[in-house]
Amino acid sequence: WCPTAAITEVDDTQKVWEALADPDKIVIAQTAPAIRVAIGDDYGFPIGTNVEGKMVAALREIGFDYVADTNWAADLTIMEEASEHVHRLKDPTAPYTMFTTCCPAWVKFMEYYYPEMIPKYSTSKSPQAMMGAMIKTYFAEKKGIDPSKIVSVAVMPCAAKKYECTREELNSAAKYHNKPGMRDIDVVLTTREFSEMLKMKKIDLAKLQDSDFDNLVGEASGAGYIFANSGGVIEAAVRTAYFLATGEQPPAVVLDLQPVHGLQGIKEATLEIPGIGEEKIAVAQGLNNARKICDMINAGQAPWRLVEVMACPGGCISGGGQPRSSVPPQDRVREKRIEAVYKIDKSMRIRLSHENPEIKKIYTEFLGQPLSEEAELLLHTHYVPKDHLLTAKKPSEY
Ligand code: SF4
Repeated sequence: WCPTAAITEVDDTQKVWEALADPDKIVIAQTAPAIRVAIGDDYGFPIGTNVEGKMVAALREIGFDYVADTNWAADLTIMEEASEHVHRLKDPTAPYTMFTTCCPAWVKFMEYYYPEMIPKYSTSKSPQAMMGAMIKTYFAEKKGIDPSKIVSVAVMPCAAKKYECTREELNSAAKYHNKPGMRDIDVVLTTREFSEMLKMKKIDLAKLQDSDFDNLVGEASGAGYIFANSGGVIEAAVRTAYFLATGEQPPAVVLDLQPVHGLQGIKEATLEIPGIGEEKIAVAQGLNNARKICDMINAGQAPWRLVEVMACPGGCISGGGQPRSSVPPQDRVREKRIEAVYKIDKSMRIRLSHENPEIKKIYTEFLGQPLSEEAELLLHTHYVPKDHLLTAKKPSEY
């Protein structure tokens, strides 16, 4: 059961072809963390091969004017989310638990079935949404592009992201430019739709020379990469939260937070943060496990200060828009993709979001600091109780 109807396949490729054919449009792509370790499956690469450079080259070959990395925006999400978390840890009046909010299926599930959890939600937007806002403001300004000419296309592992880009709240660029009707993201393509576009153009990804993302919005830390799998968002967040709370870099046990790795439905870890004390955190994958977490919180039985939820088992590496390399999705495929993601993280010179030079630059030159007025306008959102729209019983009531 998918709360965003992501199992119904929608084809948005025509909208992108039309934008690419329009000489007045500047068409900009962003690619989610999970795409690069999955799309190679369609082109004969062993499952879990990282084809990042070829993926970027393929987008340029199709005709995109710029290619941004959603991993960069994942680092930006961490800056805001970790700051929010540390702020709440120090504020005795703040809700005890904070939920991460990168997964739109989980957000919608909560708005319908657990609206009482809204105060516990991080207000930080997902990486897709942050990138959308930054492309039509910061990036457009820096590159001298008229934002109303930009068509912003997100390549995502799931159809739930198509739903997310239609959320009324994702209109920060419109507010910033005072241009009602402007959307932060114009089109979302799934990995499968992107792959179909390549096949229509007879582009063989395997034969392309690697290309790099565009600068300003193209450099990511290892923390941005691990967003692709379950446990990655929380691991990235605690790396930076530790630094923000203590002024020191996280120790190895936080940098590689082993208890939140893997395919277990609910995973837990305990951290010791000097000056803050012991912090318990949890990760749920699959909405059945999210429901267990919410029910425990409502029963007053939850010790966790920070909780990550991803609707898909394994997280986005196994999203509904990814290549169907096994039907139904199998753990052997998920494990290969997860292994690839952690391998990239370990190989990175910079593994902490707060050390990403392009992230430091955007705060120096545009946003000021995390949770600033500008950041609140462009990078934060709100949630709306929707339980009154329900026509069915809660799953737990059946
Ligand atoms: Fe989409 Fe699944 Fe990732 Fe949620 S976990 S954002 S539904 S791919």
